[in-house]
Amino acid sequence: MSLMHRRALFGAAAGLATIWAAPRALAQQAAAPSGPHSLPQLPYAFDKNEAAIDARTMEVHWRFHHAAYVNNLNTALRDHSALQSMPLEQLLANLNQVPENVRTVIRNNGGGHANHSMFWQIMGGAGGEPSGELAQAITRDFGDFNTFKTRFNAAANGQFGSGWAFVTVTREGRLAVVARPNQDTPLMEGQRVLMGNDVWEHAYYLRYQNRRPEYTAAWWNVVDWAKVAERYAAAKAGRLTI
Ligand code: MN
Repeated sequence: MSLMHRRALFGAAAGLATIWAAPRALAQQAAAPSGPHSLPQLPYAFDKNEAAIDARTMEVHWRFHHAAYVNNLNTALRDHSALQSMPLEQLLANLNQVPENVRTVIRNNGGGHANHSMFWQIMGGAGGEPSGELAQAITRDFGDFNTFKTRFNAAANGQFGSGWAFVTVTREGRLAVVARPNQDTPLMEGQRVLMGNDVWEHAYYLRYQNRRPEYTAAWWNVVDWAKVAERYAAAKAGRLTI
């Protein structure tokens, strides 16, 4: 084989490698479109919430479900540069100003991104009961901690189909329990969310199957009350976003 021929073959192989590499690069881009929003790191290991949620559920929920909300949100924002620069809570509070052709996808996926970002933050704890100012607010607004839990679980278990139970908090520190379907959030009404529980089946089905009340009862074992108290203080200072 002449040197020229070898070079030609090498060049052809290199060209082929480029052709093969290109679709892979495109596939990666399609899986993770660049955009203003990104998947937050999980602040603990997948097995940290084992007292209520198995590690596999945590991993799939974060790596695939939450990531899909982020990717779909970024894709929907691709041709809307003014919306790209809006903080998520502002985008969700002003959905009526979002162009109609992307409004539903931004509502569902922006809501999903906000809800899950909050959800990971307020878990990873050891349950128990809150203390200090937050405990006083719960007593003031619900009577006592057990009544608060009962009200919250009734909202979570009573949500027909997919959705969330939330505790909202005002700037004055007033608390209320609400439920919302799908990935809706009180952020869409300009409110602030102190904490919430995901009652989509993907959040609990591997361990609990159809037994949602068992999941919502166990969930309190992994609430991080120190984190919830931080969010409460931030809400009163006007610093709580999502
Ligand atoms: Mn979820």
